[in-house]
Parts: sequence; C-alpha cells; structure tokens
Amino acid sequence: RDVKKYFPIKGGVLRRTIGQLKAVDGVSFSIRKGETLGIVGESGSGKSTLGRVLIRLLDPTEGQILFNNEDITKLRQRQIRPIRQNMQIVFQDPFASLNAKMSVEQLVEEPLIVQGSISKKERKERVKAMIEKVGLRVDDLQKYPHEFSGGQRQRISIARALILEPKFVICDEPVSALDVSIQAQVLNLMKDLQDDLGLTYLFIAHDLSVVKHISDRVAVMYLGRIAEIAPKKELYENPMHPYTKALLSAIPMIDLNETPQTKREKIKLPGDLPSPANPPSGCAFRTRCPKAFDRCAIDRPELQEIQTDHFVACHLYSEGTI
Ligand code: SF4
Ligand code: MG
Repeated sequence: RDVKKYFPIKGGVLRRTIGQLKAVDGVSFSIRKGETLGIVGESGSGKSTLGRVLIRLLDPTEGQILFNNEDITKLRQRQIRPIRQNMQIVFQDPFASLNAKMSVEQLVEEPLIVQGSISKKERKERVKAMIEKVGLRVDDLQKYPHEFSGGQRQRISIARALILEPKFVICDEPVSALDVSIQAQVLNLMKDLQDDLGLTYLFIAHDLSVVKHISDRVAVMYLGRIAEIAPKKELYENPMHPYTKALLSAIPMIDLNETPQTKREKIKLPGDLPSPANPPSGCAFRTRCPKAFDRCAIDRPELQEIQTDHFVACHLYSEGTI
C-alpha cells in the first residue's frame, strides 16, 4: 500500500546526501493467492527493488506491506525469519546466486539446515524429492554448479527456493539470461510447480512477451510507478496506457490467430528512461508520451479502475477528458 523506496544519492568529498533516487514511488496493488502477477518494465523502472521490498530484503521508505493480512512492514529481521520461509526469490543469474564451492546437495539442503528442526535423514529425503521435482537427477546431487548448463542451474536455484515449501515466490527475471530455446522449458517447469505446490508468483520481466503465458494479471511499471494493471487477456487485447501500447507494439506477435487488422503498428518511443533521481513533473511518462497534453506536466495521474479490474494511471482516461 503506497510503497516507496528511495535511495540516498551521495556526492562531494564529504559524501553528503545530495538527492534521492526514487526507485519505487508510491505503488499499491495486491497479489491473490495462487495467481501469477507479472510485473513488466524497462531496467530502472523499479521492479526488482519493489520485489525485494515486498519480502523485506530491503526496508521500504514509506508505505505498508501485508502478507496474509499481517502487516510485516515494521517487523525486525529476527521476527521476519519465520515468515521469510514462506517468501522466496529466484534470481536472474543462477551462476551469480549459487555458491560455486557447494555441491547441488549442499545448495539445496542449506536452507533446511538454517531453518533447523528437521532431522538429517528427512533433509536428505526432501532434497532428493525436490531435485527430481525440478527435473534433475539424483546423480546430480554430488555435482557442482559449473557442471551444469544455464537452464539446469536455474533448476537448482528453483529447488533451493522451494525446499522450504514457501507460499509466495518472487521470480526476478528467472529466464532472461537463458537461451530462448530453454526459456520455455523453465517457464513450463515453473508453471507445473506452481500448480503442484499451490504457489503464488510475482513474476518480474523486462518485456511483455515473457510474462504472457505465465501470468494471470500483468502490471506495467514506469519510473517507480504502476502505469497499468489488468487481467492478462485484457491487458494484451485492450491496452489503455500509451506506454503499455508502445511496449506491446514492440513485441513480435507470433499469434497465429492474428489477422492483418489486429496487427499493431510499431510505436517507437523517443528518448531514454529519465533518471529516477530527477523524474519529470506530473506524469513521469510525459517526456516520451505521444499523447501528452498540458495537464500531464502538472498533475500526477493516479491509478484508476477504468473497467472491472483494469486500472490505468493516465489523464486520457480521467473524468471529463475522454
Ligand atoms: Fe501520456 Fe499524459 Fe497519459 Fe501520461 S497522463 S501517459 S503523458 S497522456
Ligand atoms: Mg532487475
């Protein structure tokens, strides 16, 4: 609820705070049990920071975070431990996030050891069962990360994230570093595991094509704010925000049902993402928006429900301007 995460910008010889980087700047949404919420945005849009704040790997600057109706915003790290078990994260680069000196068995077993209270025998059994669940073999347990391909390493990371039987998993671009041919396999695995284990996902990606198949709803972020959030089908078929329209126009449509009439014209946005240290006044997207008008420089558009479950933050859809 209205989550903000600002990082101080230090400068000068004295390394004083000379400004603030508004990585996440007032974001409210909910994730429903068992669903996948996709979050899409360019790098610098704040999506990874948001993910880390939600599970308290970072403290929010402002706002409130609720998990199972419990306010976890102010919990101390010790108090958060038992809850953290239910919230895990899978990172983009499995090579960087896996300790190269640990065997697969050690990597997957470690969270269980940290958690304690489980006998060695049970730990070994759970690790074996999990490694098979993610599509690796029991023989692989004594191998080390470098002996695997990128896709297999991501399977190891997934096993490590799921071994504590979490309820909520943040997937931070888990397939972005993988070959396209491998991406679908890992995405399918994640979908199967979700169904099997009753997981809820927040799935972060930098373009709309990756989250298309896995998401139930999709949120589009721009400069630390949500521009649009809607059920997947609605977002892809009826995008409203000019930024979402531009993002959608940029992804190759391989939908065989697509007729020439539904083909979208490619919208090229001028310029780069402005700095989150110095975002434009009013609507943060206005410096690149093909539809910007006077009001956009003055008022910041709030997310509004334009149709059932379809929220947009854009003055084009505000009262009286349609
Ligand atoms: Fe574009 Fe204005 Fe809408 Fe922002 S509020 S997206 S600048 S039309
Ligand atoms: Mg990121």
